[in-house]
Amino acid sequence: MEEEKLLGLLSKYFNDREIKEVKKAIFFAKKSHGKIKRASGENFYLHPLRSTSKLARIRMGKDTIIAALLHDILEDTDTISIEVEKRFGKDVLKLIKGVTKLSKVRLKTSWFPFRKVKVEQIPIFERQSETLKKMLLAMAEDVRVIFIKLADKIDNMETLGSLSKEKQERIASEVLEIYAPIANRLGMGKWKGTLEDLAFPYVYPEEYKKLQELAIPKIKEREKYLKIVIKELKLMFKGNNIKVLGIDYRAKKWYSLFLKLKKYDMNINKIYDLVAVRIILPDIENCYSALGIIHSKWKPLIGRIKDYIALPKPNGYRSLHTTVFCIDGKITEFQIRTPAMHQQAELGIAAHWIYDEKKVSKNNGNEKIRWLEEFAKIQKDSTSTTTTKDLANTFKLDLFSDRIFVFTPQGDVRDLPLGASAIDFAYSIHTDIGNHCAGAKINGKLQSIKTILKNGDVIEITTNKKTKPSRDWLNFAKTQIARGHIRKYAKRSILRINFRS
Ligand code: MN
Repeated sequence: MEEEKLLGLLSKYFNDREIKEVKKAIFFAKKSHGKIKRASGENFYLHPLRSTSKLARIRMGKDTIIAALLHDILEDTDTISIEVEKRFGKDVLKLIKGVTKLSKVRLKTSWFPFRKVKVEQIPIFERQSETLKKMLLAMAEDVRVIFIKLADKIDNMETLGSLSKEKQERIASEVLEIYAPIANRLGMGKWKGTLEDLAFPYVYPEEYKKLQELAIPKIKEREKYLKIVIKELKLMFKGNNIKVLGIDYRAKKWYSLFLKLKKYDMNINKIYDLVAVRIILPDIENCYSALGIIHSKWKPLIGRIKDYIALPKPNGYRSLHTTVFCIDGKITEFQIRTPAMHQQAELGIAAHWIYDEKKVSKNNGNEKIRWLEEFAKIQKDSTSTTTTKDLANTFKLDLFSDRIFVFTPQGDVRDLPLGASAIDFAYSIHTDIGNHCAGAKINGKLQSIKTILKNGDVIEITTNKKTKPSRDWLNFAKTQIARGHIRKYAKRSILRINFRS
């Protein structure tokens, strides 16, 4: 059944030749996974089929679809790699390898020098920053890898019920901490909301229950009211010759409502967009006209008019928002946009990858979000220092606001805690480099090793054999690794002095 569902979705935009190739991949996936079962007892191959359907629903191209079907078959065996390349081409193989790489959390021996550990035992923060770093690097290389990974995650979340409670909680909090923010960063509002609402009940079961009790009656009441508002709106637009493509309302997603309520002391009456009205119009001019008509009838709240058309959000989101005293003085939010803006709001960067037969399929997908492009650039062109200055401004990683990402001159990423200095960076490279670090070139400029680093900095450490760690460094070292080495060194030198005297 999952197979028919997928083929049905694809038949809407793939031609016969492409469908034939997809069928080949389905067969290959089934054969590769064989009789392997998932924790739920179902056949494993149903998982890639369902994940792929999510990508077909947003009309991803053939390579992405095939790679998604095969995303779990590669376990570093060269035989399968070669076979995949032979049957489905280099691009597909590259995508699969990208996804495979993401799933493996590398164990650093420095975390556990004396014992063997399982992935589950890696401290949550280490695991998350490792995952995040990989996601960013993969994304910079080919963002389609992330689309596949997110689709994979959504299916995993939907079938999370059969795992142990501990695993559920771990996987779900990772979704809230990493995968949903990344979807958000890419402007993929729909998947972000889906991921969050799937994870929310596992991570905060009690809060989730309470929130539902609090909000559901309120939502029902609002929906009843908005039906009346929409009727009125339609008449208003008709009277003013405004062509409307659609008017609807939508309830706020659970997790985002939860976060917002926390900011407003859990007072649901202060949430004006609990259920908002969404108006779709054919072009930008009509959007502004619609806004004018709404304001001429109902007074807007001061400071609540947001023109994200003239000033889009950093993730590309565009729309007009306004909150007004509506019928009976009830405070109501309206979101006004064109179909293209709507698509952008739901799919974000993925909207640029939508398969379009009229275009040459290679051509779409060239559009990238700027910060991602810059991230990729710094990976390649690490010696250029002019771009790094802008980078510090544009490369705002709000995913982990308490972490910064800096680079070696070779373009390797190091993630350090906020407030880390060049000393921390030196130790993150190698103990000897830390112990003998004498100076730091930050974005091409010579600076003290005590300099606090900023997001996006490129750092080159100069060493001097004669330089030794001093206790004073502890005032500037933030990471445990650096502090440990500095302390160890200080202790050792005291011992040496005592011995000599
Ligand atoms: Mn998978």
